[in-house]
Amino acid sequence: QASQRIRNFSIIAHIDHGKSTLADRLIEYTGALSKREMEEQVLDSMDLERERGITIKLQAVRLSYQAKDGEVYELNLIDTPGHVDFTYEVSRSLAACEGALLVVDAVQGIEAQTLANVYLALENNLEIIPVINKIDLPSAEPERVQQEIEDVIGLDASDAILASAKVGTGVEEILERIVTMVPPPQGDDDAPLKALIFDSKFDAYKGAISYVRVVEGRVAKGTTMKMMSTGKEFEVTEVGVFTPAMKIVEELKAGQVGFIAASIKNVKDTQVGDTITDAERPAAEPLPGYRKSTPMVFCGLYPVETNDYNRLRDSLEKLHLNDASLVFEPETSAALGFGFRCGFLGLLHMEIIQERLEREYDLNLITTAPSVIYKVKNILGEVLDIDNPANLPPVDQIETIAEPVVKATILVPADFVGPIMELNQEKRGTYLAMDYVSKSRVRLVYELPLSEIVFDYFDELKSRTKGYASLDYELAGYKESDLVKIDVLLNGELVDALSFIVHRSKSYNRGRKLVEKLQGIIPRQMFEIPIQSVIGNRVIARETVRAMRKDVLAKCYGGDISRKRKLLEKQKAGKKRMKQVGNVEIPQDAFMAVLKIE
Ligand code: GDP
Ligand code: MG
Repeated sequence: QASQRIRNFSIIAHIDHGKSTLADRLIEYTGALSKREMEEQVLDSMDLERERGITIKLQAVRLSYQAKDGEVYELNLIDTPGHVDFTYEVSRSLAACEGALLVVDAVQGIEAQTLANVYLALENNLEIIPVINKIDLPSAEPERVQQEIEDVIGLDASDAILASAKVGTGVEEILERIVTMVPPPQGDDDAPLKALIFDSKFDAYKGAISYVRVVEGRVAKGTTMKMMSTGKEFEVTEVGVFTPAMKIVEELKAGQVGFIAASIKNVKDTQVGDTITDAERPAAEPLPGYRKSTPMVFCGLYPVETNDYNRLRDSLEKLHLNDASLVFEPETSAALGFGFRCGFLGLLHMEIIQERLEREYDLNLITTAPSVIYKVKNILGEVLDIDNPANLPPVDQIETIAEPVVKATILVPADFVGPIMELNQEKRGTYLAMDYVSKSRVRLVYELPLSEIVFDYFDELKSRTKGYASLDYELAGYKESDLVKIDVLLNGELVDALSFIVHRSKSYNRGRKLVEKLQGIIPRQMFEIPIQSVIGNRVIARETVRAMRKDVLAKCYGGDISRKRKLLEKQKAGKKRMKQVGNVEIPQDAFMAVLKIE
């Protein structure tokens, strides 16, 4: 029988409601780290996570807590990301827990991702403990939020814990509640081993490490472990726990959370969702796995310096080791040369990968505008997945085009219902439902084309609701639509990396706005540059970048030398993210212009 003194839990919350801060307080209170060792927000270990204040990869930590009943409990906290792109990772960590703290901001109330995460927790049969956070704020309205939790989620919130992760209010109460409310794990120590891999990570010394929740049995150094999906076997070299630093222990047994290392060369052999068993006494059945993550947004990544191609590939491979949801394959563009088409879970995921490539791997990249996957049926009846607009077959070979649609849930103060409906109308949305989550807040459900969300939906939603709306969405399938491809010609030459796919009703408007925008972005050269947007071979808009009249440096002629140097440096820096296409230089901004034209 698994230890009655283990509690496995995670924290679910909408972004910024205080999940990481609360985790820090729990770690601090239980003394896992001394105050001096305590860095702000221990769980967000990646630099980028700390900077952006978001959790990207989930992490785990073991806390030791002496409860009021006098017993010492082992609490395993598994952190979850809060952003919509990473819902998939949330479901992984929840599968390793018996309980969850539901953190809701006492000012903001329930938001879209609060709901999405609660539903995931309910699906996993977790005991949910509501915590109303930030009660130290003067504008906090805990009673209102309590009511929202009851009305919207249907959870009894009468004994919700009132907390302030910032000042430490309620921390002890939370720990006590975890001990009394979250059930201990069920598994049997003496049954054949079953451990669920909920994450994996590559370590240069230990090889691929599996982060596991042991559900049944035991595992220790020397165990011959077997991956149930592939049958591959490895000898365990180390097992350990997160304190949060990795600490080696004798063994891990039913109910516990920790890591297993086995000098595994390839991270592909430690597949998240797989079950590890003991080769000598294997379990009959694996644990239920998870839904596989599917990339939703694609873009091209090209090195500015052609020589960097191999380095870009190596860097993508390294990132992929710790992030299986990043996919990539080589791609060639007539305009940009050799690069990669990369798939991401969403826009934030895409930005994060781009930023890591540039910062951690010091690459200088051109990124093309993001696209979704279109399903194109050609006249031969074949269905093609098109993730790059440039690869769309010629119009006369297309029978139908279908685009991905999502079910979007928007929570917003009632005053903004009008503007949101208007926005969703413009974005080709289909109304599905609306209800009140409290007297003044409304939940709207729409079906929307994913491409419209990728386009500028977030920005529009924010600006039209003064930042008060929150959004969550999930893929809902494919729908046929009247779509066309717009190509861009610079100086008469097709720039394939600027092509995009758009609904016919918006094509003229976007085609025209794009050339206007490009005219402002493409630097003047010694000659005139016509810019055209075309559908098929029909020109729908045209602008011209005038030729430069004088050498820029001529202005400084005879001027002081430092000013001249500055100007040269400025030109050089500006050049960094430019790509020579034919005899025209195109800056990075041009490839994103299509996203910023309405
Ligand atoms: P997460 O996105 O859910 O992980 O949220 P964070 O823990 O990063 O917190 C978001 C912001 O809210 C940070 O600026 C925190 O300092 C602040 N915050 C968190 N908890 C509290 C609290 O109890 N009171 C106040 N006033 N601010 C808080
Ligand atoms: Mg956080």
